Amino acid sequence: MKYSKLVDLYEYLEQTSSRLKKIERIADFLRKAETSVLGKVTLLIQGRIYPSYSEMEIGVADKMIIKVIASSTGFQENEVIRAFKETGDLGLSVEKLMGKKKQKTLISRELGIEKVFENLRKLAKVEGKGSQDVKVSLVRELISHAKPKEAKYIVRTVLEQLRIGVAEGVLRDSIAEAFFSGKDKEEKREIVRTIEWAWFLRPDYSEIARIAKEKGLKGLRKVSIEIGKPYHVLLAEKAKDLNEAVEKFERPSLEFKYDGARVSIHRKGEEFWFYTRRLENITSQFPDLLDLARKGIKSKECIIEGEMLGVDPKTRNPLPFQMLSQRIKRKYDIERMAKEIPIQVNLFDVVFCNGRNLFSEPLEKRRGILEKIVKPIPGKFQLAERLVTKDIKEAEDFYNRALRAKQEGVIVKNLDAKYQPGRRVGYWLKVKPIMETLDLVITGAEWGTGKRANWLGSFILSCRKGDEFLECGMMGTGIKEKGEGVTFEDLTKQLKPCIEDEKGKSVRIKPKIVVEVAYEEIQKSPNYSSGYALRFPRLLRIRVDKSPSDADDVGRIEKLHRQQRGREF
Ligand code: AMP
Repeated sequence: MKYSKLVDLYEYLEQTSSRLKKIERIADFLRKAETSVLGKVTLLIQGRIYPSYSEMEIGVADKMIIKVIASSTGFQENEVIRAFKETGDLGLSVEKLMGKKKQKTLISRELGIEKVFENLRKLAKVEGKGSQDVKVSLVRELISHAKPKEAKYIVRTVLEQLRIGVAEGVLRDSIAEAFFSGKDKEEKREIVRTIEWAWFLRPDYSEIARIAKEKGLKGLRKVSIEIGKPYHVLLAEKAKDLNEAVEKFERPSLEFKYDGARVSIHRKGEEFWFYTRRLENITSQFPDLLDLARKGIKSKECIIEGEMLGVDPKTRNPLPFQMLSQRIKRKYDIERMAKEIPIQVNLFDVVFCNGRNLFSEPLEKRRGILEKIVKPIPGKFQLAERLVTKDIKEAEDFYNRALRAKQEGVIVKNLDAKYQPGRRVGYWLKVKPIMETLDLVITGAEWGTGKRANWLGSFILSCRKGDEFLECGMMGTGIKEKGEGVTFEDLTKQLKPCIEDEKGKSVRIKPKIVVEVAYEEIQKSPNYSSGYALRFPRLLRIRVDKSPSDADDVGRIEKLHRQQRGREF
């Protein structure tokens, strides 16, 4: 199959905003693709060459692409950089420069999808000495045979920034449309649900598309969880408050909501795998977890779930999530990190045991199995603290106990509910203290990329200390692309006149604009001058009624930090 056909699809998708039209066109493309390339095009439509959970990365930086573009078009590197600055997108830059190409290639073959895919996969695989040169030649080979539009998408795919907006749901619906003809709405919905269910258990649309084409709905229904492969876990919903959550279920079970990382622990004989909620394989980063799992799991074949925390090596108190996240990303010095940031795992579920998938068993039964197959190692590998009660007073005491233990809150679970992979279906309800909002000043920002190249995309927030402003976080959410609410365009317009200095993509902004910000938590942080960082800050509104001297000061942040999680009532 010619790559130009895929490029036509990309172009269409980039210019079309209608979800339905996108689905129609992708479905048509998938239907026509031969079975041998179906998996590959399904990945390429998502701008990938491996499923999203794979650790394999293409690993090519802008700098290298600038070099390749320069050498394949005959332009100077600084001319390429100039084009890049204008568009914020190296894909568009290569397209433009190839249109005016100084160096003409003599022989040009038509690029096939297989060839593009093969070179991209090679890029992800080359390692070690001389790998940079190999990478350059792999990309150059593709570009030298590409037409300008093809080069645009090759570059974007290589940089892992395809930007054509094919969300996972769109791909799911396209597979439904391509291979099944549902008669009425209900039938169509059932088809989509079946595809989604299969994908939750095997999160790779290239495989799902192949099964859909070759084995139909029957094949999809047979997709099952596999030990050693990641799956999408059950998610929690937010409850308004503890009362609402406890009222909701006939038989509620309250558990501490630990603030760490969700981990699925897979065991088959002496082999173990660990996956995060985002499906990252973190087995090699956690030799200490391997040791605990070996000692603490009695079943030889199972998948259990828990929340992993980093703890202080001396006091064993939980550490902020950021500390543990350093371990998740770590590729070297793993043993040293394991000593500096030891872990504690609090187990709360089991989804597979001795050849049997336990999704349709109620939580009560699953917890019973979990208790049987785990031999707790206190403080290190243990069952999540819980209380089964319908009594609100008892529930409140338990909630306060969780906060005093420096945990985030509680999760109230329905003892009679099954396990629904991948979904927020209301079987688990989280209850956390609500944080008061803060009024902060924007003192810096970064230009966006791609479609957002002309807008400021993320914003540095600062609090007051006397007449000074101290940084306390970086905010990129709560701002809209268009429509109601504050848009990137609005904010950019308001901030542009206040820009004091620009370096690359970063700008320094005179303190003028005050914004009201919500957030999940305040953490101590050496990375910001205030010594604190807001976790997940979100814009609520611009406080036109406030001037920077009315913004919150660092004292208030200190106080809120002390108060959170029962440190002080
Ligand atoms: P959130 O990340 O705010 O949506 O909250 C849900 C997350 O809380 C889960 O994905 C787990 O990572 C985490 N969690 C902590 N303690 C528990 C628990 N006892 N049961 C289930 N999830 C928990």
